Amino acid sequence: MNKPKIVILGAGYGGIITTKKLEKLLKANEAEVTLINKHDYHYITTQLHKIGAGTAPDGKIILPIEELIDNEKTMFKKATVNSIDFEQKSVSLESGEKIDYDYLLVALGFQVETFGIPGIDTHAFKISSFRSSKAIYHHIQKQFSMYQEDNNPARLTFAVAGAGFTGIEMVGELVEILPKLAKTHHVPFEKVRIINIEASQNLLPGFDQDAVTYTTNLLKSMGVEVLTATKILGCTENVVTLESGQIETKTLIWSCGVRGHQLFDDAGLQTVRGKMVVDKYLRIPSLNNVYCIGDNSVFMKDDQTALPPTAQVALQQAPVCAGNIIAAIRSTDLKAFEYRHQGSVASISDYFAVGKVGSFFIKGKFAALMKKVIEAKYLYCLGGPALIVKQLFNFQSSPVKVSAKQSQ
Ligand code: FAD
Ligand code: NAD
Repeated sequence: MNKPKIVILGAGYGGIITTKKLEKLLKANEAEVTLINKHDYHYITTQLHKIGAGTAPDGKIILPIEELIDNEKTMFKKATVNSIDFEQKSVSLESGEKIDYDYLLVALGFQVETFGIPGIDTHAFKISSFRSSKAIYHHIQKQFSMYQEDNNPARLTFAVAGAGFTGIEMVGELVEILPKLAKTHHVPFEKVRIINIEASQNLLPGFDQDAVTYTTNLLKSMGVEVLTATKILGCTENVVTLESGQIETKTLIWSCGVRGHQLFDDAGLQTVRGKMVVDKYLRIPSLNNVYCIGDNSVFMKDDQTALPPTAQVALQQAPVCAGNIIAAIRSTDLKAFEYRHQGSVASISDYFAVGKVGSFFIKGKFAALMKKVIEAKYLYCLGGPALIVKQLFNFQSSPVKVSAKQSQ
């Protein structure tokens, strides 16, 4: 009898952990597992802002997929997924190749939400992948070099759009790196501006007041110009237009939210901003052999509340998803997914952080330590203690070369 084919799209948080769990749970020859990802490395999405600023070596953020999976049990294919034919149970790759499946997991993650605001697609920088983040790094370096030639103050003005967790974390990294870059390039740091722009009344909208006050005061004390209650209306290569005026800058880093990968919209399915609503077993309703987890999906905690697009959610969904695929193959009962929120912590440079764990508000150096513990926990999940040790001593630059123009 032919073995059932399990195909996993995306080797981000959700895809890679599901793959590893399948490797552990499947009996020998019980199924054929294929993992497809755009690149042959897994990137730690939660630390991409460090790549953007250059505050972490590439080798700490990108990990070769073949070193993370069991190549005897999983076939890895480096390829870009173009479309899925759910009727034919077939995935089309950019190369023209088609891959058939019996069970499919879509874990292609997020895309940046631009809300159709003019200029954002073309001119703003995005923290959406290793390459797009590396492009930010190259651009910042270039601004310092060019400033020495033209003394254009717009080159030393760095604007971050959005003061959700991504925006705050990016601002924190800029605070850490820009004084060093100024020194290296013999530019007085007083000439450098870091501006954080947020449409809501305060930073970290939706978060507790303690966290908002702490973060606002900390960023201001670090010299960040905090502009709240002003929406970005558009940008060009040189100017950001706000409801409250204009800022001349050559660097706008856009972190104003995310939507799901466009693939489901392309397939004509009904989505919520690109995300597929899944059932309690993490399947796409009406397509019982197709699972979807992570930022590409919406899981409704109750009638009103959708889980947020976080690594924490994707990581909790992955083992349940793997178990349910196997249960489907074995015709046993599927398990309903239940989410347990463990807290949220945002870094503000390497030295400070803010967040909530359980009902406790945490801040400062202690929170920064908690953040490192969370990061180490993920590495443990991915590659056990050996990977933690390897990463601890890994200060190499990456084998992936990205130029300022590459951004996918
Ligand atoms: P991803 O991890 O984004 O993985 C998607 C994978 O699919 C990638 O490998 C990508 O290359 C691949 N892919 C995409 N398109 C294609 C294609 N067409 N063909 C083939 N492969 C493709 N969440 C937290 O809980 N805690 C945090 O501290 C945190 N920090 C964050 C910091 C930043 C800067 C950002 C941007 C996000 C952060 N998040 C955090 C959110 C978290 O990163 C996401 O929720 C998480 O990555 C979602 O996992 P995923 O598996 O759905 O997608
Ligand atoms: P977000 O949606 O949480 O925040 C986006 C922010 O941009 C909002 O505050 C919004 O008011 C603002 N905004 C939107 N349009 C704007 C405009 N035109 N002008 C100015 N401001 C505008 O998005 P995010 O920060 O990218 O986070 C995405 C997801 O990733 C969230 O679920 C978040 O919790 C998660 N995340 C978690 C961590 C962490 O746990 N440390 C870090 C980063 C991201």
